[in-house]
Amino acid sequence: MRNVVIIGSGPAGYTAAIYAARANLSPLLIEGLQIGGQLSITTDVDNFPGFPEGVMGPELMESMKKQAARFGTEFLQAMVSRVDLSQRPFRLYTDDEEIQSKAVIICSGASARLIGIEAEKKLIGYGVSTCATCDGYFFRGKEIIVVGGGDSAMEEATFLTKFVSKATVVHRRDKLRASKIMQDKAFKNPKIDFVWDTVVEDIYDVDARNVQGVKLRNLKNDEVTDFRCDGVFVAIGHDPNTGIFTGQIEMDANGYILTRDGTKTNVPGVFAAGDVQDHVYRQAISAAGSGCMAAIDAERFLEHSEH
Ligand code: NAP
Repeated sequence: MRNVVIIGSGPAGYTAAIYAARANLSPLLIEGLQIGGQLSITTDVDNFPGFPEGVMGPELMESMKKQAARFGTEFLQAMVSRVDLSQRPFRLYTDDEEIQSKAVIICSGASARLIGIEAEKKLIGYGVSTCATCDGYFFRGKEIIVVGGGDSAMEEATFLTKFVSKATVVHRRDKLRASKIMQDKAFKNPKIDFVWDTVVEDIYDVDARNVQGVKLRNLKNDEVTDFRCDGVFVAIGHDPNTGIFTGQIEMDANGYILTRDGTKTNVPGVFAAGDVQDHVYRQAISAAGSGCMAAIDAERFLEHSEH
């Protein structure tokens, strides 16, 4: 029987582990498939306080993990495939085992959304990317498209112009969703073009295992055109990783876990921190902060439930 199990290995999970371990709760942290979370596929992180020269995402996550290990956190490389939060102790299931715990901290984060076409799945890592900071370098001197009209799309397009010769933003409407300041920056950038009211229907060439162009459909006049490019960056938002909690924990309409009074969910003893419950700030530092809060909330819950 565990005191506390932390699900997820991003900044929220590792910070919760540091605090829970230092409170002598001997936490178990289940790392998931992408150890280190979204920061493990990021390059420079310039806004995490304490690193005046910036830090690489994977290095930051490795340091957080080491810090959590130093105080006795146990790590399990596994995915939680099912949970039963209907009674205490809570039960978590991986492919190999059942784990029982008095408290659970959910830090399972969010994942990049995909357009949902077959070629996209087949070409991910072969010219299709959801992370400009990770893959931009591979497109030096090339022409790429960025799909999306939000802040992420503007940020990725602007960042990519450090490397590419041309970035074309393909957006499904004729207005951007991005903040004014990010829009202005992108509009002013001579390397960024826009194609409006348009969706990507196919990506060429799956057989050649690289990107040679896309099939575009204009939603206003239904016109279909081929557009040559060497890469496709998909920047259409994120979805919270909450599938296994559906029906057991209160969520909003988009599947983000609802927290109140700190990091409490509607199930006493279950807490949530980081991007899995935050679609507003979504920063490493805010995730880490809420991970700290969740560990303190869990500690207090355990203290009270044992008296
Ligand atoms: P977002 O604001 O939800 O924007 C997603 C964009 O992708 C929208 O323009 C949307 O089109 C489009 N889209 C969604 N599904 C699509 C599909 N299947 N096919 C084609 N296009 C699709 O997501 P985000 O840009 O990732 O931003 C999320 C949050 O993080 C926002 O609050 C944002 O302000 C914040 N953020 C901030 C910064 C920053 O300030 N530095 C950077 C990144 C993100 P529609 O417009 O038609 O819906």
